[in-house]
Amino acid sequence: MFCIQCEQTLNNDKFTGCQLSKGICGKESDTADLQDILIYMLQGISQYAHRARELGAAADNAIDRFIPEAFFTTLTNVNFDENRFLELIPQALTLRNKAKAMYENQCAL
Ligand code: SF4
Repeated sequence: MFCIQCEQTLNNDKFTGCQLSKGICGKESDTADLQDILIYMLQGISQYAHRARELGAAADNAIDRFIPEAFFTTLTNVNFDENRFLELIPQALTLRNKAKAMYENQCAL
């Protein structure tokens, strides 16, 4: 596992970041990986949505609501429920595709 999400991260002569079997906080590697995937998806949604808006697209309420809600589920010690991330990641994929289509539509105008 590898996680540098918070100030409790493992930091000594050997390690920079939690990279043993579990994090200092008890986070499991699968949870850290699912959080990374979700954050990566949020970056993709944000990139497309931001650029679509710059090109004149209207705000999308579903995207604007989802980004902060999903982001806050990854905050340290807030939610280590892997099932929650397994629900959010497909939702993020749907919204990423929506934001991508918004961007591409604006580019085609
Ligand atoms: S959230 Fe947990 S696993 Fe990640 S850096 Fe902090 S203590 Fe380590």
